[in-house]
Amino acid sequence: MYKVIDGKALAASMRADIKAKVFSFKQDYGKTIGLAVVLVGDDSASQVYVRNKIKACEEVGIKSFAYRLDKDTPQKDLEELVQSLAADKNVNGILVQLPLPEHIDAEKVLSYIPYEKDVDGFCAQNIGRLCMNEDCLVACTPNGVMQMFASEGISLKGKNAVVVGRSNIVGKPMAMLLTNADATVTLCHSKTQNLKEICLNADILVAAIGKPKYISADMVKEGAVVIDVGMDRDENGKLCGDVDFETVKEKCSYITPVPGGVGPMTITMLMYNTYLAAVRSL
Ligand code: NAP
Repeated sequence: MYKVIDGKALAASMRADIKAKVFSFKQDYGKTIGLAVVLVGDDSASQVYVRNKIKACEEVGIKSFAYRLDKDTPQKDLEELVQSLAADKNVNGILVQLPLPEHIDAEKVLSYIPYEKDVDGFCAQNIGRLCMNEDCLVACTPNGVMQMFASEGISLKGKNAVVVGRSNIVGKPMAMLLTNADATVTLCHSKTQNLKEICLNADILVAAIGKPKYISADMVKEGAVVIDVGMDRDENGKLCGDVDFETVKEKCSYITPVPGGVGPMTITMLMYNTYLAAVRSL
């Protein structure tokens, strides 16, 4: 018998908790927590993400500073904006929405975000600190997955965990978090041989591939916990994950749906990171 982990419900309860914390912060220190969101260009998906992030800020009482820049904005102007946000005491977190237009050197722009304000957890210092299991701002999506394990009381210690996908924003930090939680981790990618056999050995299977319904039931061990990070479109254009939910669910102890699984946790963790950045700035 499997249980579906309800990311939407968990995200809602965490946001209520963050809202209370943000309110207490203001009461205790007389400061409003601020998040700067920078969007360059008119990519429609990015516009939706930015809107949702600003909406989440409103929901939890974080002040958002939105910068919507023209797609032809010169590199220098963008760098100067990020530098001024880095120095601004009212801004606790800085988020530059990716991808940036092609003429922009994204890495250089991001390098101006101090690690204390890097609420996406993407910079080398935060990644390095995560590897060393030190306090840091952790990338939002994998951190959201860790909250899901915790909320269900799923033990990771000594478990075989397999992460499929090695991106810097999901797969790699996910593997590191699981390692820090005492799981034995295998990180897979497009060149991995015998992916099916490796997945069949997973007590915990995290799919972050970007291929609709790629993980099929014959790749999943009986009783596994399956986390689907994917946000893909099926052959009918319908939102789905990297896991073939309908066939895989019968083999799982726990499984996350798409939509309503990992997705709602990501922005919630962004709010949490912004709160954390404010607390650490005191
Ligand atoms: P990405 O940067 O494109 O990385 C995909 C990873 O999957 C790569 O490491 C790639 O291997 C690996 N891969 C591709 N095909 C494979 C195959 N056949 N077998 C094994 N590994 C394979 O993607 P991402 O940014 O990590 O995102 C992954 C998925 O998560 C996407 O669907 C994305 O939309 C979704 N996502 C969701 C959220 C959320 O909030 N729910 C957040 C971020 C991402 P190589 O490294 O060898 O190329």
